[in-house]
Amino acid sequence: MTRAPPFDVAIVGGGASGTLLAIQLLRRAAPGGRFVMLDRAGDFARGIAYRTEESSHVLNVPAARMSALADEEEHFLAWLRQHEPAAGRDSYAPRRRYGDYLSELLSETEGRAGAVLERRTAEVRDLEADAAGVRLHLDSGEALFVRHAALALGNLPPIPLEASPDARTRVWQSPWSPDAAWPAPGTSVLLVGAGLTAIDVLLSLAARGHAGPWHMLSRHGLLPNAHGPRTLPPLAVELPRGRLRPLVRVLREASAAPGADWRPVIDTVRQQAHALWPSLGDEEQRRFIRHARTLWEVHRHRVAPEVGRQLQSFLQSGQLQVHAGRLRRLASAGARLEATFQPRGTAREETLLVDLAVNCTGPASHAATADVLVNALLRRGLVRPGPFQLGLATDSRGALLDARGRAGGTLWTLGSVRRGQLWESTAIPDIRMQAAELASHLVPPGAG
Ligand SMILES: Cc1cc2nc3c(=O)[nH]c(=O)nc-3n(C[C@H](O)[C@H](O)[C@H](O)COP(=O)(O)OP(=O)(O)OC[C@H]3O[C@@H](n4cnc5c(N)ncnc54)[C@H](O)[C@@H]3O)c2cc1C
Repeated sequence: MTRAPPFDVAIVGGGASGTLLAIQLLRRAAPGGRFVMLDRAGDFARGIAYRTEESSHVLNVPAARMSALADEEEHFLAWLRQHEPAAGRDSYAPRRRYGDYLSELLSETEGRAGAVLERRTAEVRDLEADAAGVRLHLDSGEALFVRHAALALGNLPPIPLEASPDARTRVWQSPWSPDAAWPAPGTSVLLVGAGLTAIDVLLSLAARGHAGPWHMLSRHGLLPNAHGPRTLPPLAVELPRGRLRPLVRVLREASAAPGADWRPVIDTVRQQAHALWPSLGDEEQRRFIRHARTLWEVHRHRVAPEVGRQLQSFLQSGQLQVHAGRLRRLASAGARLEATFQPRGTAREETLLVDLAVNCTGPASHAATADVLVNALLRRGLVRPGPFQLGLATDSRGALLDARGRAGGTLWTLGSVRRGQLWESTAIPDIRMQAAELASHLVPPGAG
C-alpha cells in the first residue's frame, strides 16, 4: 500500500457513534482534510436508535444529558427548546427528534469546516490493514484505500433464535426490520429478551392497536426500572476503587440513607465507571459480571417515567406476562408456534402457544456474531475478542488490538464494541467522550 490514500479517515457505520466522530474530526481538521463515512443502510446520523418513526419511542436519557458535545453539556437541551419551548432538563424527547438533532449538527459542522466528509451507502465486508493504511472492501466489489479506519458498528447482531424449519416464518430474527407484517390484534406475541429493545417492540405493537397477550421471556424475568420524575445529580463522592466489597457497601449505605433515591447512586457509578472498571482487575470484574450484571443492567438502563407507567398498566391488566427462564426451542404447532422454555431454577420445561416470536436478545458476544465484517477481521487476525468475550479488544485510545494484542495504529473503534474494556460504552454520554478523544488521535493538535 504505497499510494497516498484519498481519505484520511473512513468511518464505518453512520449511526450516532460514527456521526459523533465525524463531527469531532470536522471540527479539528485543517482545510483539505478528507473523510468518508460509510453506512450499509445509508441512514446517516440516526442508526438503529434514532431512525424510528414511532412517537412512543422516546429517549431513555433525559434531555439535559444527551448533548452530542462533551464540552457543551446543554447543547441538545438548547436545540430541543427551539423546537419544543416547554422542554425541560427532564424531558424525554422522541428518539426521532434526536436523529434530527444529530443530522442538523453534522450538516452545520460540515458547512463550517474546511475539511470534507463524503457519505457513501455501502457495506464494508472486509478490510486489510498495515502501518501505511487500510483497504476497505465494499459490497459493490470496490476497494477503498484510506489512512485510518474507525469502526462505529454499534451493537453486534444477536444470536438467531433456533426454530424448526416449519416455524421460521413465525419468528422475527431482528426487531428492527420486521420480517413480515405486524401481527393482527388478537394474536399473541412472545418477546425473547426483556430489555429496552423488547419494550420498543411492545410499544410499537400497542401503537398499532395490538392489545396482547404479550409474553416476555428472559433469563431473570426482570424489566428495566424507570427514571424518577426529576433527575437528581450524581453524588459528590469518589467511590472506592479496586475491590467490589467496599464499593457495594458504600452504594448500599448511600441508597439506604433517609430520603435517598437509588438512581443518583447508580448514576454516580456510571459517571465514574471508566476509572472504577479497570481498577477492579480481572477477578473482581468477572465476579461482577457473574453476580451483578443483570441487576446492574435493570437499574442502569432506565425507561422514561411515562414508559414505566405504561409497562405497569400492561402488567396489571394481564396483557403482559413476564417469564424467567431459558428458551429451549421454537416449533410449529399447527398454524401457531410452540415455545418451550425452562423456568429459572427448575429442571422442568413449560410451553407457551403464540403466533409470533421476536428476537430481542441483545448483542451477541464476538465469537457467535453473525457480523460479516467482524468475522472477516477475526479470521485475518486484525482484531481479537474483548475481555470476557465482550466486543473487541482495544487499547485505552480505542485502537483495535490484533490477535497478538498489538495496536497496529490504523484501525480504531468506538461505541459498544468497547464494552469489555470500558464496561459503560453504549450511551451518548460515553460515546461523545470517546469520539472527542479518538478524533484527537486521528487529527492531533497542530494538524488541524
Ligand atoms: C432502542 C435503543 C434506544 C436507545 N436509547 C438511547 C437513549 O435514549 N440515550 C442514549 O444515550 N443511548 C441510547 N441507546 C444506546 C445507543 O446504542 C447509542 O445512543 C447510539 O445510538 C449507538 O449508536 P451506534 O452508531 O454505535 O450504533 P448503531 O445505531 O447500531 O449504528 C451503527 C451503524 O453502522 C452500520 N454498519 C454496521 N456494520 C457496517 C458495515 N460493515 N458497513 C457499513 N455500515 C455498517 C449500521 O447500518 C448502522 O447504521 C439506545 C439504543 C437502542 C438500541
